[in-house]
Amino acid sequence: MRFLLAEDDDYLARALAQGLGSRGYAVDAARSGKEAIQALSDSEYDLLILDLGLPEVDGSQILRLLRERGSTLPVIIITARDAVQDRIAGLDLGANDYLTKPFDFGELEARIRAILRKNVWGNRMEIHCGLLRFVLNTKEVFVGGEVCEFTPRESAVLEMLLSRAGRLVPKKALVEHLASWEEAPSDNAMEIVIHRLRRKLCTAGVEISTVRGFGYLLRESQ
Ligand code: CA
Repeated sequence: MRFLLAEDDDYLARALAQGLGSRGYAVDAARSGKEAIQALSDSEYDLLILDLGLPEVDGSQILRLLRERGSTLPVIIITARDAVQDRIAGLDLGANDYLTKPFDFGELEARIRAILRKNVWGNRMEIHCGLLRFVLNTKEVFVGGEVCEFTPRESAVLEMLLSRAGRLVPKKALVEHLASWEEAPSDNAMEIVIHRLRRKLCTAGVEISTVRGFGYLLRESQ
């Protein structure tokens, strides 16, 4: 999952990017409204975390622009503006959620999980495929009842493949969703992740096929 974080407070931006990064989310940080608009037109994101008080272009203007263009990108507003009127205005502009600063990181995470659960997984809490069970909140993976350990990156790749189980996931899309501006996984690194996933899931009743030149496809073994 790849997020855009539009926040001009350096300290908060860094702390959030680091915290979310350690949970396996790829985070690009934009420090101004202009930067955020540029990033949104350059890359595809799964979520926008949006401060309202941004230099150059205000967060609410960005949100209005996004929705006018028909974008369905989930948006969480994080802002110091805590008047009820501001919250109503933000949600009515098309935000999915609203957090007032200062907020607890755990609460932001939970709200992110709730939004992604609804958007990507239709409110399901667990994904079953073959003998594999993927718990969305905790990212725990069980194979035939046994816990299976994954690195954050392996887990992120598995989650994306599972979200499109039975369909081809282009390698480019996979790399883009995992990449943040600072560290894009190379093609080779992606192949290593897939190799490790196959090894760890060899008894899970699922297979990850490589469609050469295009990408990967996860499905239940025949
Ligand atoms: Ca601000």
